[in-house]
Amino acid sequence: MLSVTEARARILEHFRPLETETIPLAESAGRVLAEDVIAAQSVPPFANSSMDGYAVRVRDVASASREQPAALTVSGDIPAGASIPPPLAVGTAARIMTGAPLPEGAEAIVPVEDTDDHRDHAHAGAPPPPMIRIFKRASPGANIRPVGQDVRAGQGVMSAGTVLRPAEVGVLAALGRAQVRVHRRPVVAILSTGDELCEVGASLRPGQIRDTNSYTLAAAVEQYGGRTLRLGIARDRAEDVRAKLSSALEGRADLILSSAGVSVGAYDVVKEVVEAEGALDFWRVRMRPGKPVAFGNVRGVPFFGLPGNPVSALVSFEVFVRPAILKMGGHRQLEKPAVRAELLEPLHSDGRESYLRVVLERRAEGYVARSTGDQGSAVLTSLVKANGLLIVPEGVTEVKAGEVLPVWLLDNLV
Ligand code: AMP
Ligand code: MG
Repeated sequence: MLSVTEARARILEHFRPLETETIPLAESAGRVLAEDVIAAQSVPPFANSSMDGYAVRVRDVASASREQPAALTVSGDIPAGASIPPPLAVGTAARIMTGAPLPEGAEAIVPVEDTDDHRDHAHAGAPPPPMIRIFKRASPGANIRPVGQDVRAGQGVMSAGTVLRPAEVGVLAALGRAQVRVHRRPVVAILSTGDELCEVGASLRPGQIRDTNSYTLAAAVEQYGGRTLRLGIARDRAEDVRAKLSSALEGRADLILSSAGVSVGAYDVVKEVVEAEGALDFWRVRMRPGKPVAFGNVRGVPFFGLPGNPVSALVSFEVFVRPAILKMGGHRQLEKPAVRAELLEPLHSDGRESYLRVVLERRAEGYVARSTGDQGSAVLTSLVKANGLLIVPEGVTEVKAGEVLPVWLLDNLV
């Protein structure tokens, strides 16, 4: 019998980051960078104003105050997008807008609020006043964004392995990177098996239930950056399972996920088919929920045989499949985000590493967790109610209220 940690380590040995591809920046959110990014240009590319106001020389406003304003001729008007403004004549000010390039000779920007330019009733596009009174002195560099304040040309900005969140995508945009090199998204084939399964859109006949796992697993695959290849339902017959596996290979799947049909039931045919087409190991993992997880390959393509019960399928996905998908996508951080939470009620466990569906709540003194109720492995609504999976470590059978345990975050809203 393997521990969860041992099983996960063995599985992850079979996965490598997939090859890279160059994609449009607009499609890069959530992907993992496969190149080091060196800034080809500075950001901002030119010194500019961080305020709407007046560009001045410091000495021209050195003794300005509310009582004794400095009166300067307005010699220029520089809107954002102006190319190269003329130099600032000594003893004058130039009206300047946020983001507009600084004229040569300007040493500070006086915000419009510190001048007598009260534009409340001026219409947009109105010319600047001929004279401006300035009520405050300014120190050198005030309200000026120097060239390269954010990024300097030649600087290393991001390294391979960086996950492209909105901020990273924005920096790449600022650097003019319309294309980026990232790891390819894994294609994950999803197969449900069972004679009792009915398509979601069909009406149930006696003895049937709807195929839930195709949907939960596909949603989970997409959540972690995979692309899904839905194979639908295979009946509990070897030829049917074999045909579906062939479609997975034709679809160039990087991973095949199957649910159900891998236990010891009389009609559990997945095992023999996979063994004939590749190899399958059944691992009895000391884990709950989740009967043994089956892992192997179909003609070299990694294969997971997940349990049929919907909760077990999804929890074993989180434990074993999620890190594999992330690794293929180039991610380096494979651990599920977790917090430590105080249990509000006592719990029994059976000594296996257990993943309990809990409601996690943040309180002033820290996180607290309570069970979502019926922990049956077919009760999928208990996962709907849950925002965390509390991990009862191996070997523990009784947990008292008030004890603190790790909880995986199922969403980031807690
Ligand atoms: P099995 O591993 O085939 O014995 O399935 C275990 C349990 O999971 C049985 O109650 C099945 O009906 C149920 N089950 C199997 N596949 C699915 C599925 N795709 N959606 C919902 N329940 C399923
Ligand atoms: Mg079955």
